[in-house]
Amino acid sequence: MSKLRLTDIKKSYHSGETVQALKGISLEFRESEFVSILGPSGCGKTTLLNIVGGLDRYDEGDLSLGGRSTKHFKDRDWDAYRNHSIGFVFQNYNLIAHQTILQNVEIAMTLSGVPVSERKQKAKAALESVGLGSKLDKRPNQLSGGQMQRVAIARALVNDPDIILADEPTGALDSQTSVQVMEILKDISKTKLVIMVTHNADLAEEYSSRIIHLRDGEVQSDSNPMLNDKTGYEQQSSSGAEKLSLGKTSMSLVTAASLSFKNLLTKKGRTLITSFAGSIGIIGVALVLALSTGLSNYISKMQSETLAGFPLTISENVQQIEGPPDSAAGILTGNSGGKDDEFPNGDVLYSHDSAANTQQHTNVLTASYFDYVSKIGQELPGAVNAVTYGRDVDMNILAKGDKDVVRFETTVNASPDMSPGFGSAPTYWQELPDNEEFITSLYDFIGEGSRYPTAENEVALVVDSYNRLDQAFFEKLGIFTENEEYKLSDFIGKKILKIVPNDQFYTEKENGIFAPATAESYPELYEDADGMELTITGILRLKDGNASSSGYLSEGIVYTPKLTDYIVNDSAKSAIALAQQASDRDVVLNTPFANEQAKDARLRALGAVTTPSSINIYPKDFGGKDEIKQYLDAYNEGKSEEDRIVYTDMSEMIGSAIQTVLDTVSYVLIGFAAISLVVSTIMIGIITYVSVLERTKEIGILRSIGARKKDISRLFNAETLIVGLVAGTLGIVISYLLTLVINSVIANLLSIEGIAQLTVTHSAILIIGSMLLTLIAGMIPARAATKKDPVIALRTE
Ligand code: ADP
Ligand code: MG
Repeated sequence: MSKLRLTDIKKSYHSGETVQALKGISLEFRESEFVSILGPSGCGKTTLLNIVGGLDRYDEGDLSLGGRSTKHFKDRDWDAYRNHSIGFVFQNYNLIAHQTILQNVEIAMTLSGVPVSERKQKAKAALESVGLGSKLDKRPNQLSGGQMQRVAIARALVNDPDIILADEPTGALDSQTSVQVMEILKDISKTKLVIMVTHNADLAEEYSSRIIHLRDGEVQSDSNPMLNDKTGYEQQSSSGAEKLSLGKTSMSLVTAASLSFKNLLTKKGRTLITSFAGSIGIIGVALVLALSTGLSNYISKMQSETLAGFPLTISENVQQIEGPPDSAAGILTGNSGGKDDEFPNGDVLYSHDSAANTQQHTNVLTASYFDYVSKIGQELPGAVNAVTYGRDVDMNILAKGDKDVVRFETTVNASPDMSPGFGSAPTYWQELPDNEEFITSLYDFIGEGSRYPTAENEVALVVDSYNRLDQAFFEKLGIFTENEEYKLSDFIGKKILKIVPNDQFYTEKENGIFAPATAESYPELYEDADGMELTITGILRLKDGNASSSGYLSEGIVYTPKLTDYIVNDSAKSAIALAQQASDRDVVLNTPFANEQAKDARLRALGAVTTPSSINIYPKDFGGKDEIKQYLDAYNEGKSEEDRIVYTDMSEMIGSAIQTVLDTVSYVLIGFAAISLVVSTIMIGIITYVSVLERTKEIGILRSIGARKKDISRLFNAETLIVGLVAGTLGIVISYLLTLVINSVIANLLSIEGIAQLTVTHSAILIIGSMLLTLIAGMIPARAATKKDPVIALRTE
């Protein structure tokens, strides 16, 4: 079919000193003959064979097949050339150790894309032709040297190449098996060109049809040269070397994956350890994600269930940003010895306005805003539970719980910008929201005759779920006994509190200065003053099952909004309120006010201002809260900065504070998990690299039978992908089992269900991520594998 011709082939190696291995070889071979190449060691026999086989490149001259030049061959052409036209047989057999001999023979065909069934059948036939039909499933190390060499011959034959190249095929065999191999090669040479390098002149003499002696990279003698057909030679040269065209080889991804998979199976232990190492990082990340997912879900559930009970608060002063004193200025001015230095040395003492350091927004609560808010119940009936108003009135209440009469303080020197109910010491005195239905849905009325207070002179007690009230509360009522128990009926229906009007509580002295009633006069006031006695109509306790819904009523006494109206109306007309409004000094203490706000607070406390200072809106649920927020935001639309009314969402502040803590913890944990991920990725990289080193020989073999560089990198990429897949899956399975353990432990300890939730999305992302990471980790070693020179790769043991 095709004649192989070498024209003045030259080849030098340049490792250290330059060695000219071939010094101009011109040879022509018949389509079928058995050529033996003899010569001393180092004369260039292997080099010649590798060049003919396309494993090595010639420097000068030309190699042509059937008159077609290979001068312009690219890598992939050489790959196809090796795969289709050449069959190699090596001295040391070069079989792939982890594959059966059938697979070893099949592999050459997987590269040329022969279908599976045909592949099996052809491989079988080839092995039968060399007498190994009964050993198909044996591995190379279960065979003798002669048998292995016959497998190598079967592999060389299976693609039906034109040329069989054998480099000292009997070099490692005893004389008897050598003869068997020679017989087979001689048989092949009837239809193919067989070129064999050997040291054994006798065998060459006996079996081959032509003997070529090489010496120092040159042909010394040729026993049967082709007739030097000058004209034909010239014709071919002048016709211009036609380009040899061959099919292309390619290893399918499936083949690569199955090769890698089989290789991994032969090293199960190591693969498992590698995968486990890789999975540790995945486990770390998976658990962090599971925990943060679970916690986020838990928090939002808690927010919607429990914290939804917290009101939206609108008060006059809203602290927006709290900054350290003049921090920015301090940074800008540097340490210039100015006012902003910490630990100053000089003889100086500063006065500063602490309020100026906290940016505040002042909500100007106008009548139209109150009007707007008062309609919220009608506008959003499904969203609002109740609206309460805070007036900060310092009510004059006397308590006669026992023998003594004491003053029942209703405010705790709270700063004006503090919203009622938060951050201050308990007053045990709270206004009921104007929604009886709402309160009775949450609270039981315990004790005989216990009922909801409705009139202005009616109040109720609120106890905790153990029917308890704090000792401090009893002291406020003037009950100082050491009793630990009372009867409910000791309180229900009783009158032990009295509201005293401003005009009787404060008496004017000279100069518009007023004095509050002294403790000695309390009993007298309680008996004789106008005022109004308050009746305890009932005792409220949270319903069983609502125990988590705190935040509506605090323990102590609750009173109706009507009482507030009554007091404000009454107080506004009082002498002290009018006097205070007219004066710039505190009419009780006779001291000037520090600022406008202090005076406002004082006026409020005296009941001189009738508008509320704060509004609390209690949403029905989480969704309702959003509706309310939208409603409140709608008021601000198109308003200038000063006219805007800003609200505070306490539950969101609590929730986002928790979320911030959670996020911070998550980031730290993710950081740690990421480190372990990186470490395990590097480990996989190293292990892949070791695998490349180990499989150098296999790379050489694959290259010798026509595998492209791409195929080799595919092989290793497939391997790392499989490791990544196993690592990822293993990691997810282990993580899932761990979440089950964590959940049952947390459920037992804290009775929080499902704190760790590994979602399907996260699992999928992590498995894909694991594959990507291992792929990247294996990229460098896989690249190194493709770069290996096939000739050198074959030489490694
Ligand atoms: P033979 O097979 O006849 O023993 P080789 O073809 O292997 O000889 O080698 C021929 C010459 O080229 C020797 O001197 C050898 O050292 C040198 N040589 C072969 N391969 C290489 C190589 N990859 N790098 C450097 N020198 C080489
Ligand atoms: Mg050699």
